[in-house]
Amino acid sequence: MKTIKTLLVANRGEIASRIFSTARRMGLGTVAVFSDADEHLPFVRHADVAVRIGPAPSAQSYLNAAALLRAATLTGADAVHPGYGFLSENAAFAQAVLAAGLTFVGPSPKSIAAMGTKREAKRLAVAHGLSVVPGFEGGDQSTTALSEQAMALTLPVIFKPSAGGGGKGMHVVHRAEELVVAIESAKREALRAFGDATLIGEKYLARPRHIEIQILADAHGNVTHLFERECSVQRRHQKVIEEAPAFTLSPKLRAAMSEAALTIARAISYVGAGTVEFLLDENENFYFCEMNTRLQVEHRVTERITGIDLVEEQIRLAQGEVLRVSASTLTPQGHAIECRLYAERPEAGFLPAAGEVLHLTLPRRPDTLIDCSIEAGSAVSTHYDPMLAKIVAHGATRELAIAELRASLRELTLLGVDHNGAFLEAVVSHPDFETNQVHIHWLESAAPRPPAQPSSLLLPSLALVVLHSRASSAHTAPSRPVVPHFRNNAFADAFVEIAQGDLRFRVQYQVCDSRTLSIRVAEQAQRFTFLRIDEERWSIEDALGLKRTAVVAVTNETYFVSLAGYTSTLRLLPRFQSSQSQQQAGGLIAPMPGKVISVHVSAGTQVTKGQTLMVLESMKMEQRIVAPKEGTVSQVAAREGAQVTAGQVLIRFGDDA
Ligand code: ADP
Repeated sequence: MKTIKTLLVANRGEIASRIFSTARRMGLGTVAVFSDADEHLPFVRHADVAVRIGPAPSAQSYLNAAALLRAATLTGADAVHPGYGFLSENAAFAQAVLAAGLTFVGPSPKSIAAMGTKREAKRLAVAHGLSVVPGFEGGDQSTTALSEQAMALTLPVIFKPSAGGGGKGMHVVHRAEELVVAIESAKREALRAFGDATLIGEKYLARPRHIEIQILADAHGNVTHLFERECSVQRRHQKVIEEAPAFTLSPKLRAAMSEAALTIARAISYVGAGTVEFLLDENENFYFCEMNTRLQVEHRVTERITGIDLVEEQIRLAQGEVLRVSASTLTPQGHAIECRLYAERPEAGFLPAAGEVLHLTLPRRPDTLIDCSIEAGSAVSTHYDPMLAKIVAHGATRELAIAELRASLRELTLLGVDHNGAFLEAVVSHPDFETNQVHIHWLESAAPRPPAQPSSLLLPSLALVVLHSRASSAHTAPSRPVVPHFRNNAFADAFVEIAQGDLRFRVQYQVCDSRTLSIRVAEQAQRFTFLRIDEERWSIEDALGLKRTAVVAVTNETYFVSLAGYTSTLRLLPRFQSSQSQQQAGGLIAPMPGKVISVHVSAGTQVTKGQTLMVLESMKMEQRIVAPKEGTVSQVAAREGAQVTAGQVLIRFGDDA
């Protein structure tokens, strides 16, 4: 048996921090690696020592095996934990770690390779008597052949990168005329994300649930499952909420799925922690989907119902120890639910967001555990996965776990970067979620909307923006308890224009005394009195005498106001914006920062509504820019390969100028 002394985590963010905490508890030395973009993130400080491995793009840093191994040599690390994503399921990397004389905290390169492609994994499952979703393996990868096979299977069909993971690069095709664009886009994404353009196709199931079984196995032939997780709440084929146990699974089905998972693990002589994923249809048929030969993001929910630290077990198994736990002697305790806090805009099709974290208050509750990658001041870039934190609630029952999660989400305040916090709260409060009437398409079809800001909070939010904008323009010392720059003269016609999403407000205001401001928006008028609590917090009292505490953060004329659990993003518009300049700025804009990967039109092209004009890539995801209407392109304002910022004009139409 080999004993690990110093563990290098070949990963970043919350997962690196999460692994360090177990390693430290076990008395191991810890090594972090970081890219130029991540130098100031908390995980870098959570290790004993940290090594810079390269520039921001993952290909030059977290995917650079040579740089990772150099870091191990430099720091004397004797083991490498790959975390999830990046090189965690890369057999060649595992092999390189072993060849360097280090311990790989994960399965053998052979097991990784056996499950390395969806194509091989499905073949193996079938050979061992498991059901898989009907589909084709795409021997001939030409677009024509793939289209023909899809038509033969009957639409809808889902195309997946055979070497894929993380829900990336999957394309669902409902209509024959969408086949060519979808297949070509899927191939491009597959090649870029996984270095392999091979696609497989499958019948697209209408309302399946995603159920997966956690596996642990040692090198001595012992293998156990650690119960199941349900991860049916997904967007873009990526999990958003995960729970254990799966609430509606019958004991019979649970036993059958666990047995199937054990069969797969045994078939590839698996060692370590792994997850076998299934889709379960409405008639209780379950289909093997894939096996993930690594730790999963959602491992925390299993830990919380079993009391087992999966990272510790992984480390012990990698050292060659005998498996210490077995499902047969464990009774799951209560219910655990995890939700993933993403930097994204649910209201804009879950587009990734970026920015600087201006304020962060995390919930502090005994039954909630948080793995978080950011702190106030952290930069959230578009280079990596947009997950910011995992919020994991535990309760004696599922109902209590939901209540705990909801309470935690309410306590969370994150300003400066758009995120899905309010959306998550709406999701876990939805009756379909409460009764577990969900399936993998539910989130995007039944789409619970984030609760709109109550109208009673609009005026105080706008008042806070007015207050702040005046404070910053007056350059006043922030620590005074009142609003010092307010003068007692009335600004009868003072006004500002503030935007909230697509809404525009013309806010008229009047300074009443040094602490009181009166504002009018359309027909509504109200007086507010302010008291500064600290740098970011204000107490705001309305005319009825109701006092609330607001957190306000500002960057580049954008104001983030958190009031009574709701966060609004408000933009102060330039004072005298002429309609002409608005028109000049017209055209199609980039919805997120990213890179232009293809341009399909040029000046003069006649387009029809919905036609793809350009494809952007951000956070490894493609975003099609489509024509909002019929017309003629007058200008293509961004070239292929160009980096664009959110809001930058990409394409103008004849009638924009
Ligand atoms: P990845 O390796 O990228 O995570 P999976 O094969 O595990 O890909 O699938 C991820 C998710 O995509 C599933 O949880 C499910 O939501 C969706 N999905 C996969 N296959 C199908 C299918 N045949 N029909 C409908 N949805 C599917």
